[in-house]
Amino acid sequence: MADQYTMQDPTTQYPKAGPEYQQQQPEPGLQKDMTPVPDSGETSYRGTGRLTGRKAVVTGADSGIGRAAAIAYAREGADVVLSYLPEEEADAQEVVKLIEEAGRKAVTVPGDLKDEQYCVQLIETAVKELGGIDILANVAGKQQFVPEIADLTTEQFDHTFKTNVYSLFWLCKAAIKHMKPGSSIINTSSIQAYNPSPILLDYATTKSAINTFSKALAQQVAEKGIRVNVVAPGPIWTPLQVVGGQPEEALKDFGSQTPLARPGQPVEMAPAYVFLASQESSYVSGETLNANGGTPTP
Ligand code: NAD
Ligand code: MG
Repeated sequence: MADQYTMQDPTTQYPKAGPEYQQQQPEPGLQKDMTPVPDSGETSYRGTGRLTGRKAVVTGADSGIGRAAAIAYAREGADVVLSYLPEEEADAQEVVKLIEEAGRKAVTVPGDLKDEQYCVQLIETAVKELGGIDILANVAGKQQFVPEIADLTTEQFDHTFKTNVYSLFWLCKAAIKHMKPGSSIINTSSIQAYNPSPILLDYATTKSAINTFSKALAQQVAEKGIRVNVVAPGPIWTPLQVVGGQPEEALKDFGSQTPLARPGQPVEMAPAYVFLASQESSYVSGETLNANGGTPTP
């Protein structure tokens, strides 16, 4: 069975999109109902003890990139607290099973990240159930395309900012006071931070805010021995894309404009989240690791 250490051609490692990628679900969507089902590393990620004994919180851990990070963290030896929306329980339970099969503890804390109280409670639960917090991977996000500013509601603008930006502020604030030197925060930006699509006005703006927030916070907490970094994915095949993240007709060409000419799979993001969480990246902070199929970035 191939894993992330098997040498192969990255242009053909996963398929290009096609007409079968055109599908829609209501927000937030379920990974298990997608065709094809994304690869979050369920059978393709192999751990080598890089995070032995760590205590991690992962948001958006039920599906897509967050699920890939959660599976990888567990296989690298970490216990994991999973945040996701209550509607995503079915996806989350699959991840719980995989974490337990890796011999690690999984704690589920479903709730809404737009709520500050929930964010505080998520961190407090992690500290109580795992005995601390060494890794905070903020992966959850909201993306809804709207072609014209006239049709972008204040409610959507507010929800996108609350989910993508305010939750980072609340979670980092709550977590940092519990973090020991050596701890790591990993936030999730996007190629949209530098190459914004006109139809993603609110979303793209939050992603650029996440990069700047992370660079400022990284300097602020460096003296505490806490590092803050960012992963900036390109087009990755996840539920986000089939719940209104893109026009349905665009999905057949999803990822085709990247130099590697195909969409990425969530598991291909996992090594970036592992590297930035582990001591291997001890001299890396305030950095953005772009994993986007080869598109140049500033
Ligand atoms: P996904 O749909 O699998 O994950 C997003 C998760 O966010 C959901 O599973 C859900 O649990 C969580 N979420 C959304 N709103 C929430 C709320 N109010 N409260 C609690 N949880 C909430 O999709 P994904 O693509 O894996 O997204 C993960 C991250 O990757 C997001 O930050 C997204 O912006 C970013 N990203 C994705 C792509 C891509 O092409 N898929 C590209 C760049 C960046
Ligand atoms: Mg989900």
